[in-house]
Amino acid sequence: MSLPPEQIALLASLRWQIAMGADEAILEAAVARDRAPAPSRPEAAAPPPRAAAPAPAAPRKATPHGEAAAALAAGAATLEELRAAMAEFTGSPLRETATNLVFSDGVPGASVMVIGEAPGAEEDRLGKPFVGASGQLLDRMFASIGLNRAESLYITNILPFRPPGNRTPTDAEIALFLPFVLRHVALARPRFLVLAGGVAAKGVLQSRDGITRLRGRWHQVSILDGQVLMALPTLHPAYLLRNPIAKRDAWADLLVLQRAINDGGIGAVGKA
Ligand code: URA
Repeated sequence: MSLPPEQIALLASLRWQIAMGADEAILEAAVARDRAPAPSRPEAAAPPPRAAAPAPAAPRKATPHGEAAAALAAGAATLEELRAAMAEFTGSPLRETATNLVFSDGVPGASVMVIGEAPGAEEDRLGKPFVGASGQLLDRMFASIGLNRAESLYITNILPFRPPGNRTPTDAEIALFLPFVLRHVALARPRFLVLAGGVAAKGVLQSRDGITRLRGRWHQVSILDGQVLMALPTLHPAYLLRNPIAKRDAWADLLVLQRAINDGGIGAVGKA
């Protein structure tokens, strides 16, 4: 039996709320229901903020380690070669404190590629991205729009090594590993990029704008081999774990992604 579109959207919204752990029908603050306006459906929510032209990040001077990273990345013709090139790269002290290189998980060639920030303790231990608490939330978020890492997602991070104590990556670290990330995207050839969190958005979009300005709308990204891809910044699952109220924004962002997938490509994205 096929359902009308409004019911499909309501069911998707319900699946999302269950995935987000909503098991009680309560709000954060009491609502006088006799005076409250009718709740809006997620798709009808206010459109994500339209940021002004992104503020470009200041160009960084090439460093010897940066040049070595760029040369190693450019020389990799396959994902396996890229992984080996990153393992060989000695230009970052993060390598010395990390247990494992965390390269990727999921399906290479999937149409959606997610880029996160950096491995945490669990990821460092297992050598896989997003396997800890925020990874479990990430899996539930994507499952609510029918995507999963066994079939339809490919996942990596800006940094392949855990920063000690899970500190935020520095601008220099982001810049150093960016050639590897862009080569990774070029070799994986996704249709859509999802940039999870400010570090991924800042690095890939080369923007000084914060994630709250960038999220929820498509940005064009030029990849090293001349490919142009559409990238959707969104909130990082670790942020959502700390700020559950922001899950509604993440849901709105996922609907933007789902609409682009259903519309069959980036040509239709700009019309949203
Ligand atoms: N956070 C990230 O950004 N990446 C991971 O792999 C895990 C947590």
